[in-house]
Formats: sequence, structure tokens, C-alpha cells
Amino acid sequence: AKAAGRNAIRFFDPAMQIALEENAAMLAELHQAIDNGELELFYQIQIDETKGIQGAEVLLRWFHPIRGMVSPLDFIPMAEESGLIIPIGRWVLESACHQLKVWENIPNRENWQISVNVSALQFQQENFVEIVQEIILSNNINPHGLKLELTESMVLDNVDIIIEKMHQLNQLGIDFSMDDFGTGYSSLSCLKRLPLKQLKIDQSFVRDITTDPDDAAIVQTIINLSNSLKYDVIAEGVETQEQRQFLFNNGCSQYQGYLFSRPVPIAEFEELVSSMSVN
Ligand code: C2E
Ligand code: CA
Ligand code: CA
Ligand code: CA
Repeated sequence: AKAAGRNAIRFFDPAMQIALEENAAMLAELHQAIDNGELELFYQIQIDETKGIQGAEVLLRWFHPIRGMVSPLDFIPMAEESGLIIPIGRWVLESACHQLKVWENIPNRENWQISVNVSALQFQQENFVEIVQEIILSNNINPHGLKLELTESMVLDNVDIIIEKMHQLNQLGIDFSMDDFGTGYSSLSCLKRLPLKQLKIDQSFVRDITTDPDDAAIVQTIINLSNSLKYDVIAEGVETQEQRQFLFNNGCSQYQGYLFSRPVPIAEFEELVSSMSVN
């Protein structure tokens, strides 16, 4: 009875009730967001110290008519819980491939890649490989331009099925990056079975890299691990020249972060790229 009473009080907590109603309203609106054209991809440049521009990661933005720009941190979890991430994720892939097609026809961009975040539910769809294949075919793009960012939590269960899917996508020419590397719980024995192209050092380790010896050690370890396993390594959240210098000195020459650019709309991205190629 005591427990039930506590639950009842919690359920009728007005603040909680309002939060629940707001959530429901937002979910209903998210349902319409694709059709209403409220979703947009922002592009954040990825740079190699010696090889130059590598491409960009696409980051989703929701422009709500009243709420304004909603952060993916606020709606991706909701989209995952409700299953809406399936159509949204498909829209992201389609838009990214559409952009890749544009880049394919611009000189000196043949090796550029677009990195796309894929959530667990999306990757676990039985026909995910077919969906990706279909999008590649209908946009007539070179699949090597596509890189999918997975997270460690996705490979905790059903590892064999995940690996099989990764191999199938690999065979199409698609690369994989392990996002937020070091923040999850995947074991090294599992990691080495995955057909990865790249590890992405999480920004939480990069932030204090020049002041916190523990973070510095973690980052050095990830870089060494990447070298041993023959993966590329990129650091996210690079904000200062000092961080960039530390990374470069320790063998990581690929970066993404505010030092170079925030995620920006495609027009701004193109301006950035042309201003960079002028110097
Ligand atoms: P993420 O994949 O780890 O993306 C990196 C986040 O760090 C982005 O936040 C980016 O704007 C931010 N960031 C980039 N450089 C810097 C920097 O130098 N300093 C700092 N402090 N932050 C930096 P954003 O755009 O708010 O995205 C948040 C998360 O939402 C992403 O984290 C990703 O997990 C998810 N997300 C975004 N777009 C998509 C999508 O299309 N599909 C899925 N499934 N998830 C997405
Ligand atoms: Ca990412
Ligand atoms: Ca990340
Ligand atoms: Ca992160």
C-alpha cells in the first residue's frame, strides 16, 4: 500500500504530468516533422592534418515552427523510444546520399566521405542492408563516399548478426566508424572482430587532454590501439590549437571540432570549404 501510495503521488505530481503532456505533444509534432520539411542536416567538416578535407559528419537539426531549433539530444532519444528513428534515419541517409551525389561532380572531392550517425534500432532493422543499398542505387552514388557511425552499445548483443550486417555493407563499399569510442563497454575481443575503418575518440577525453594526465593517457592508448588494429583514428570536440598539437604529436592527424567549424547548413559549409581552398 505504501509503495502504491508513493506511485500514486508520483503519477499525479503536476510537474511530472506537465512533462508527460509536453513529451506527448512533442512526439506528435515529431511525427509530422519530416512531411513538414522541418528536418535539416548540418555539416561539420572533418580534416586530416596532412591530407586536407576528408568530408563531413552530418548532424540532424529540427526546426520547429514555435520551439525553434530543437537539439538532437532532446529529440533523438524520443525518436528512438517511439520507433520514429526508423523513418527519420532513412530520411537522414537519403539526404546525405543526395549531397554525396552533388559532391561527386565537383573536382577534387572524389575521396570525400559523409559520416552518418546510425542508431541501434535503425541498424537492427532486418532489411537495413537492403534499405541502404536501395538508397545508394536510387541516388547512383559511389558507396565509398558513405561512412556509418555506430556506437559501442550497439554491438553488445547479437554480435554475430551485427558483424554479418557490417560485412554485407562493407562489401557494398561502405565504411564504419566507432563513435564515442572509449565511453561504452565493448570488449577488445569483440572490437577486433568488427570490420571497422575508424575509431572516433570521444570529446569527453579530448576536452582536458592538455591538462589532465588521465585523459592524455586514455587518448594515447586509443591512438596506439587504432594503430595496432590498423584503424584510422579521428578526434571529435577539438576546440584549441593545443589539443590539435597534442593529438598530432601523439599520432592522431584527423580532427573534427569547433576549432575548424561548428556544424553548419550546407550553404555555409560550401563557403567554409571554398575559403579554405583559397589559402
Ligand atoms: P555525436 O554523434 O557524438 O556528435 C557530436 C556532437 O558534438 C554534436 O552535437 C556536435 O555538434 C558536437 N560537437 C562537435 N564539435 C564540437 C566541439 O568542438 N566542442 C563541443 N563541445 N561539441 C562539439 P549535436 O549536433 O548536438 O548532436 C548530438 C548527438 O545527437 C550526436 O552526438 C548523435 O549521437 C545524435 N545525432 C545527431 N544527428 C543524428 C542523426 O542523424 N541520427 C542519429 N541516430 N543520431 C544523431
Ligand atoms: Ca557521431
Ligand atoms: Ca561522437
Ligand atoms: Ca560524443
